[in-house]
Amino acid sequence: MGISLPMETLGVLFTFPRNSYLESELDRRCNLFRLWETPPESRIDFIRSHANSIRAVVCNPIVGADADTIDALPKLEIISTCSVGIDRIDLGKCRQRGIRVTNTPDVLTDDTADLAIVLAISVMRRIPEADWYVRCGSWKAIGDYKLTTKFSGKTVGILGLGRIGTAVAKRAEAFGCPIIYHSKSEKPNTTYKYYPNVLELAANCQVLIVACSLTPETHHIVNRGVMDALGPNGVLINIGRGQHVDESELIKALVEGRLGGAGIDVFEQEPHVPEELFGLENVVLLPHVGAATVETRKAMADLVLRNLDAHFTNKPLLTPVI
Ligand code: NAP
Repeated sequence: MGISLPMETLGVLFTFPRNSYLESELDRRCNLFRLWETPPESRIDFIRSHANSIRAVVCNPIVGADADTIDALPKLEIISTCSVGIDRIDLGKCRQRGIRVTNTPDVLTDDTADLAIVLAISVMRRIPEADWYVRCGSWKAIGDYKLTTKFSGKTVGILGLGRIGTAVAKRAEAFGCPIIYHSKSEKPNTTYKYYPNVLELAANCQVLIVACSLTPETHHIVNRGVMDALGPNGVLINIGRGQHVDESELIKALVEGRLGGAGIDVFEQEPHVPEELFGLENVVLLPHVGAATVETRKAMADLVLRNLDAHFTNKPLLTPVI
């Protein structure tokens, strides 16, 4: 792409190696500092030792930019996250310091919505286990695989009818699923039924899909009560953030049979996944791959580069958060 970052001497702190295309494009254009190459206990010293040249941070949903990082960088002008979620950036600190923040909305919506549907069907039709049944020879040795649960036509509850939530709803509609939702506010231009809280939403759907942004209000928004409202025939899909779901209550609900199943792309302490989940056949576990396709990661990286280019050439940012 024709990006003209005049940045050979510009210091950019890159926090996590999640996008090799972005890494190589940044490396070509500027003085890149790779945070992950320094052990965690020495990172703040590493940042301080390059503080005079670092004017931009490029981060992601795994390693963002916290208050300590921002405080250590007096020349910082912009934080560009390669994600739509901005929960790992200290926005208050950025506002105080006048630091610009950009994210990557829209370009990752399709992939993440696709994955929500895939997870729901995978859990209900037991796709990973059925695949294993073939691979380990059980089909031949034992006979037909057990019956599973139909997805088409089930009521789908969307928690967070934003860009991704709306894209999930559209896909689920194509499967004949009635759509209901809860968001911060009721949407005027939709025929989907609105529920004023997540508990009522969960009580009225069979598949609950978490697609809201992570804020102090949505931390553990899916708690024990919500799981019980969803019930033993209900399925929870989380493609939002791990902290939306109370993970220890999720394990209990699944183990005790109070919740029918779960499809999870995001966890509370990534990449740590509670081992209690490994033995459960009614869960499908993914390593935070909502937007992890070659096409989308490239589009996200290009958006990060365009935002940096815009900032350092005094043009309007493409996708500003602040
Ligand atoms: P978005 O368009 O900003 O949508 C966020 C939604 O969250 C909005 O509908 C908003 O409601 C709702 N929300 C915010 N606070 C709420 C609250 N207190 N109660 C209920 N709903 C609330 O963002 P998006 O592009 O769809 O992305 C959504 C999230 O998906 C991101 O923040 C990110 O964490 C996650 N994500 C995950 C992956 C992955 O790899 N798994 C990939 C991409 C994104 P209103 O519409 O009423 O404001």
